[in-house]
Amino acid sequence: MQVSTKSSVKSASVVHVGLDDTDSTQGKCTTHAAYRITDYLLNNKSIEFVDYPLLIRLNPNIPWKTRGNGAVCLRFRTSHHEDVLDRIMDLVHKENLVATGANPGIAVFCGETIPYSIQCFARKALYDVVSRKTAEDLAARHQIRFFIDGNGQGLVGSMAAIGTLLHEDHTFEAVAYRKQERCGTVRRLDSAKVVQLDAETFPYTFNNYDKAHHRVLILPHGPDPVFCGIRGESAEVVSFALGNLQISEELEGHMVFRTNQGTNQHLQNEVGFTDIKCYTAGFSQCKVDSRPTVIEGGHALFSVRDSSGAVVNAAVYEPTDMVNFASKLEVGDVIKIGFGVRKPSSKHLRTLNIEYLQVLVANEIFETANPICIICKKRMKSEGTNKGFRCRKCGLRNRDAKKILIPKTRMIQTNLIVPTPKAHRHLTKPIHRYGIEKNMENTLEIKMWSPWFSKNLGLAEDY
Ligand code: ATP
Repeated sequence: MQVSTKSSVKSASVVHVGLDDTDSTQGKCTTHAAYRITDYLLNNKSIEFVDYPLLIRLNPNIPWKTRGNGAVCLRFRTSHHEDVLDRIMDLVHKENLVATGANPGIAVFCGETIPYSIQCFARKALYDVVSRKTAEDLAARHQIRFFIDGNGQGLVGSMAAIGTLLHEDHTFEAVAYRKQERCGTVRRLDSAKVVQLDAETFPYTFNNYDKAHHRVLILPHGPDPVFCGIRGESAEVVSFALGNLQISEELEGHMVFRTNQGTNQHLQNEVGFTDIKCYTAGFSQCKVDSRPTVIEGGHALFSVRDSSGAVVNAAVYEPTDMVNFASKLEVGDVIKIGFGVRKPSSKHLRTLNIEYLQVLVANEIFETANPICIICKKRMKSEGTNKGFRCRKCGLRNRDAKKILIPKTRMIQTNLIVPTPKAHRHLTKPIHRYGIEKNMENTLEIKMWSPWFSKNLGLAEDY
């Protein structure tokens, strides 16, 4: 069944609830808090969702993130928004949706359209560090109600989630949640089923399995309530794929998120290397300035120069499987790179951690050789520095002859190189998604496919 976004909840305004930082390394998860809140909202007749819950991955280089720097936004129409909001806050407290040690932020904006300044704030939070003060000022300017605890940093993510519309490229993830009593125990799932699921649904689902490393990628490993997550191109395909996994553990339920995962949304900004800021992300077209050296641990280190002449260090890390390629780079190669900026430490300088790499122009390189004898066509021998060359066969001497340059064949590909799936960040765009990105046309009117939420799985029977 398809439900249009057109409202049957008369004269109601749209409420946008942003949530972040309800989790800690000890457990909980912001998406699970969103699942519980959604469960309540769906049981309330005066509420109609206007979009899937959004799972927005923000700047992955923020040092104080717990895991994947995810924030959530719920958008729904209701004519009783004050009551609904009070009930959400009750739920957060009573159901203990916030982990100890977390710095939660919950922000609520009411209105048909999201103000441009909140959208700009959200865009910046994808690739830069934004301050809590900016978030607070913005909230005050737009009469945004918010709740914060701990150091209040969660307000940044909750405001950024509200400001992200995902009108262009996006993907979906169906997340299955464990019953509370199972959290912290081993997740059991037959990897053969994941391999089969991948074979049957790729490329409409992705990053289920890293074939090169025989690694299942859909199961997290921490004590959080997520059992597994399936990523893909539509709500339908990720829900069906989840149902077909026939998970034996009894689960609390599942929810489908619309998300910026797999879109490279954090790498849209072109960045010059003068005054480049730590913890930011972006892309650059630049030149290789020093040949890569592969250090202990298998990482490749080199330097790059931008068009203004500014030089910065760059690194390709071993787990990405891109080192073999990177080690073939030569000085002068014109490359395009996506990267996050790593802060300097006592051991290394400020470094670009490379997230994708493409050679645009492979520089011509040469090896030097002794000149050829004009009589016998054999290579001559050097007589010593500045003493010229002599032919070993015919004895011809030439004091003015110089070494010659021979062009070397370059064994380097010019296609785009991205990390192997097991080394992907949430935002990394998998290679097969280049060219199939969604655009405004297929995003303007969100049609919600009804089985985007379920409780008490029995997953297989529910579809
Ligand atoms: P999970 O993926 O499990 O939800 P997490 O990795 O999202 O966890 P959080 O516990 O939410 O980590 O912590 C991230 C914190 O960083 C939040 O307080 C969030 O508001 C803040 N934050 C996110 N993006 C930025 C940014 N660009 N600038 C400054 N702070 C940010």
